[in-house]
Amino acid sequence: MDKKRLRHALVAIVGDDFVLDDPASMWVYGKDASPLPPATPDLAVVPETTEQVAAILALANETHTPVYPRSSGSNLWGGCIPCGGGIVVDLRRMNRVISIDEELFSCTVQPAVTFVQLNEALAKHKEGYYNLVSPEGALTACVAGSFLAHGDGIGSALWGTQGDAIVGCKVVIPSGEVIITGSAANPSAQKVAGGSGQFFRYAYANDLTGLFCGSEGTLGILVEATTRIERIPARYGFAALDFASVDDACQVLYRARQERIQANFAALREKKSMEALRPGEYPDAQLVYIIEGDDVIVEHQLERLRQLAREHGGVESDNGKARAYWEKRYSLIPGGMYKLGARALLPLHYPLGKMAWYYHQIRDICDTIIAGKYRLAYFIGGFQIGTAFVCYPTIMFLEQYPKQYQTVMACAREAQESLLGLGGAPIQMGTLWGWCMPRLGTHFELLKRIKQAIDPNNIMSPGMVGFSIDE
Ligand SMILES: Cc1cc2nc3c(=O)[nH]c(=O)nc-3n(C[C@H](O)[C@H](O)[C@H](O)COP(=O)(O)OP(=O)(O)OC[C@H]3O[C@@H](n4cnc5c(N)ncnc54)[C@H](O)[C@@H]3O)c2cc1C
Repeated sequence: MDKKRLRHALVAIVGDDFVLDDPASMWVYGKDASPLPPATPDLAVVPETTEQVAAILALANETHTPVYPRSSGSNLWGGCIPCGGGIVVDLRRMNRVISIDEELFSCTVQPAVTFVQLNEALAKHKEGYYNLVSPEGALTACVAGSFLAHGDGIGSALWGTQGDAIVGCKVVIPSGEVIITGSAANPSAQKVAGGSGQFFRYAYANDLTGLFCGSEGTLGILVEATTRIERIPARYGFAALDFASVDDACQVLYRARQERIQANFAALREKKSMEALRPGEYPDAQLVYIIEGDDVIVEHQLERLRQLAREHGGVESDNGKARAYWEKRYSLIPGGMYKLGARALLPLHYPLGKMAWYYHQIRDICDTIIAGKYRLAYFIGGFQIGTAFVCYPTIMFLEQYPKQYQTVMACAREAQESLLGLGGAPIQMGTLWGWCMPRLGTHFELLKRIKQAIDPNNIMSPGMVGFSIDE
């Protein structure tokens, strides 16, 4: 279908105000927060209802038009750059908290609800609740984008990734059909349990919620997600612990997890990286812990953490820093990241119990490739995700210099190859990591067959996650 007729058909679905093709909008929809090159879509459409999403997908499927869903476009891995042209489906009008169902320990939202919006609504609800995992970019990041890309962040030490936090979802697939996963797939669940009826994920054979988790828009458009909620704890405790080596700090991270310290968040900072971010005096390694519980639990666990630190030569430092991080947790990174030119993030996940060894290998790769061969600045950040640890070497550059940009992309690719060689697991793919998918052999072959079955015309985000643009 030519663009004029496609536009006409989309206007019939959502109205003239919500189909965009002006150059300024196309520029915005061609980019995300990654450093990857932009691409221009033909059109963008901004639906408000599930019915409109279903009609858009049915039209795109019939006309074999590529579709790229987008919530806020804050992903860092080229996840919604419309590399195959076609339509960007901007979900920002679907931004309602639908229900907070404390008796089901869950909350159901539309896709473009941001984490700050969600946490504010939950905090005001009755005794006060919170969403388990929220990214550091929570001011703009939306629930759909995070769940569909295995997002992580604050809360990950205790609860894992966004995939672990989601109970069920509602997704429109290319045929225009609406799929409900989780306990609400049973029509009686809503009638009898009340609310969304989403209280349990693992039912009715395969885990279809898991099928969509991490699919990054390649199988359909998510129109509702139900996430687990918990009461806001009576107290948070803060600890900053300084060490003479990264090895000691990593040992404490591991032992604290073995002892099931209730850390909501546990981050590792190391001298060289801190110096790269801001000149100053830093310990060789520092752990920042946020503990949650009641007075007794928090006091007991803070004391145990101090003991563990002492056993590894560590000392308690300025706990005010940990508290300050917590208070600014959603503004610190967005505020500083771009100013510092911290742009190309290469996050991979490693086993928590072996982090000391991995950290040295990662540091060697960064020193040899990023600083040595390409002469670029970098820092390494990282935090605990349950029994794993995410480590994100970050190349710093100012992207307005095109020559440097090419160098950065070549450098990032070479570093990615070496980091993958350590056996780490990148969980957000987009186009930044999609190239490595064919290496997974039968794993990727099965994913291709699943995509072919759900999306036979390959309209959903072609070019993402290693799927070809014109298959
Ligand atoms: C400053 C900063 C800090 C960040 N901190 C973190 C962090 O701590 N942890 C973390 O995991 N990430 C972080 N990110 C990355 C990003 O913000 C998050 O992953 C975020 O959850 C993505 O949400 P989004 O709404 O922007 O998604 P988008 O960028 O809009 O989309 C992400 C992916 O999901 C797909 N998608 C979006 N909505 C739908 C839908 N409704 N249906 C189908 N597919 C859809 C898109 O096609 C794309 O593939 C950070 C980013 C920035 C800029």
